[in-house]
Amino acid sequence: MTIQVLGVDPRSRSKTQLTAPAPLPYVSRRALARVRDRIEPPTACHCCGGAVRLVSNATIYGREYGPWPFAYRCADCGAYVGLHPDTDLPLGIMASKPTIQARKAAKNTFLALVQERYAGKQSAAYAWLARALGISPTICHFGMFTQDQAERAGEVCRLAREARA
Ligand SMILES: [Zn+2]
Repeated sequence: MTIQVLGVDPRSRSKTQLTAPAPLPYVSRRALARVRDRIEPPTACHCCGGAVRLVSNATIYGREYGPWPFAYRCADCGAYVGLHPDTDLPLGIMASKPTIQARKAAKNTFLALVQERYAGKQSAAYAWLARALGISPTICHFGMFTQDQAERAGEVCRLAREARA
């Protein structure tokens, strides 16, 4: 599945009241304007193509979690993604448990590399990672990775760390 990364949501410049999809209490124009690399709210699951619902994240965590406690969740495979605060925009690609695990593991390796090689500067390290993976910097975020991409990112970072040892 190809997921398009778009620019700032045109609704951020709308003059009329924005409608918020249930169960969101509102959608903020100012918050929409802050999201520079946007992907559309999912209508079909990014993992399995199943039906997606916008839910309270208590559905996932057992209680509401965080200041904007909502998520897009697939009723079929359970993949989910959180929302940018005060918007209906997803933080990234919906992910199943194994994908979330793969992203976490890869990100830990990446963060170690950021400290060792980039003096804690994540933007330079992300630019390097995008080149190493052959992808556009706009989609080079762990929240955007599929399981395969996350595993490749982890491997690339691991090799880079070993090359320095
Ligand atoms: Zn699914």
